[in-house]
Amino acid sequence: MDKKWHIESKLAQIGSVEEPVTGAVNYPIYQATAFRHPRLGQSTGFDYARTKSPTRAVLEQAAAELECGDAGFACSSGMAALQTVFMMFAQGDHLIVSLDLYGGTYRLLERILAKFGVTASYVDTNDLDKLESVRQPNTKALFIETPTNPLMMVTDIGKVSSWAKQHQLLTIVDNTLLTPYFQRPLELGADIVVHSATKYLGGHNDVLAGIIVTKGEKLSAEMFFLHNSLGAVLSPSDSYQLMRGMKTLALRMDRHQSNALAIAKYLQNHPQVAEVFYPALPDHPGYEIQNQQSSGNTGIFSFKVTDARYVEPVLRHLKLITFAESLGGVESLMTYPAVQTHADIPLEIREAVGVDDRLLRFSVGIEHVNDLIEDLGQALEAASVEVEGGEIHE
Ligand code: PLP
Repeated sequence: MDKKWHIESKLAQIGSVEEPVTGAVNYPIYQATAFRHPRLGQSTGFDYARTKSPTRAVLEQAAAELECGDAGFACSSGMAALQTVFMMFAQGDHLIVSLDLYGGTYRLLERILAKFGVTASYVDTNDLDKLESVRQPNTKALFIETPTNPLMMVTDIGKVSSWAKQHQLLTIVDNTLLTPYFQRPLELGADIVVHSATKYLGGHNDVLAGIIVTKGEKLSAEMFFLHNSLGAVLSPSDSYQLMRGMKTLALRMDRHQSNALAIAKYLQNHPQVAEVFYPALPDHPGYEIQNQQSSGNTGIFSFKVTDARYVEPVLRHLKLITFAESLGGVESLMTYPAVQTHADIPLEIREAVGVDDRLLRFSVGIEHVNDLIEDLGQALEAASVEVEGGEIHE
């Protein structure tokens, strides 16, 4: 890929120029797990597929270039990517982690990493005083989601990564919600980027994948060692599928963003909605930082209904929007974080952050915005009729 190309061109051209034998514009799926050695001591560059595999290698190179990093690693899921990254740490190490966080990441840290003596403190990662107050002599890294899932809290990546550097801490950013199309944390000072590529990168709710991108030779070599040693690598066919999805990332993200903004504004004025959490709205506390460090907004936001009794009927009455537990695909999905994605976070932490029984998370798809607004409107109205009585207006 030419460094001078805009990201839209880089995305559309993933894998298009790498296949020298036939000139195929889509890089093929090399299913092989073993590769012939020309002679003793010689290699084609590929020896065994867990270590390096051709289709995956094209994806990994593209991911590194898109995130402006030095090396990319494709994993069998976002959790596999997170696990691989966290395996850098050893017994006695401590991490500082975003307070509002994907529930699976919390579960990995508290139920698995903790068994190996790696501990974590959860704070508002945009607050330097709070970061300083939990920093310990054994703190090794700062792990942030920005915006966070599901409450969309924004962290200033440049500010916190320079604080982290002063204290010799690594900055790791989960960039799932914005993708490199809108935000490139490594350019802002972070050291490692992680993705659940199952979400926007894949974009079609049909491939489970994770991506890691590292900056610097030393970190890249360490991640290569961990990726190969742990073995949670992405298969050749899933690598192909992911690249196919990534080619249209720019188009999809533009549409996700414009749909989400229109619907968030609609919900802000809806009598059954108490609050909308979306950094694209000027009254969101992270609005300015988000605008400075990103070129756009995600297609996900959360909102609280005024009465928890609305939640069940709203989910039941949705017709176009699907009640399902994921985000970032072309189809609109509604999630109830308290009982789905964030159920593994203890109630007191969830409630302190605001992930309560009135919160719904909406992953806005690329359908026509008017159809989505109409669907939400009718589901909220039907819920109100069920809870308060009254008539449905046709
Ligand atoms: N990070 C974030 C922000 C997520 O939302 C998720 C999954 O929802 C993950 C990581 C884990 O990714 P996966 O489900 O692909 O394992």
